Amino acid sequence: MIIVSACLCGINCKYDGGNNLDVRILKLLKEGKAMPVCPEQLGGQETPRAAHEIANGNGRDVLEGKARILGPKDDDVTSQFLKGAYETLKIAEAVGANIAILKARSPSCGYSQIYDGTFSGTKRTGNGVTAELLLSKGIKVFTEENLDEVDL
Ligand code: SF4
Repeated sequence: MIIVSACLCGINCKYDGGNNLDVRILKLLKEGKAMPVCPEQLGGQETPRAAHEIANGNGRDVLEGKARILGPKDDDVTSQFLKGAYETLKIAEAVGANIAILKARSPSCGYSQIYDGTFSGTKRTGNGVTAELLLSKGIKVFTEENLDEVDL
C-alpha cells in the first residue's frame, strides 16, 4: 500500500479549500493501491485554513524542536503539524506502507524542497514535517513531480 497526499486524489483538503488533483494518483487510489491522508487535517486544522510555512528551518528542524510553523500573522501551528505527522505515520504503519507519494513543497508533505517561510514563493532545501518523519522510519518518499521514479 502506498500513502498518498489526499489533495493529489482530488480531495478538497488544501488550505484554500481546493485540491491538487493528479489523475495518476487518483488512478492508484481507484486501483486499491493507495491510502489518502491529509496530515494538516489529521492534525486538527480546519479547511479552509491560512497558509503556513516553516520559519527558519525545515521539517527535520521542526521534529527536533528547532523551528516553528507559522502563518502570515505569526500564528503558531507547530503542534498541529506535528500531530498530523504522527497520525499519518500511524496510518502508514497500520497499512504497511513503504512508499509515500506526497505533494511537492508543502510544509507537511514536501520532499527535497519546501517554501522558505517568507510567503514570497521562495524555496529552500528540505522536507516537510510529515515527509521527514516518514523518511526517518524508512518509508521512501516521492512527489507528484518525480512519480516516474516510483516502482509501482
Ligand atoms: Fe495536501 Fe498534504 Fe497539504 Fe493535506 S497537508 S492539503 S495532503 S499537501
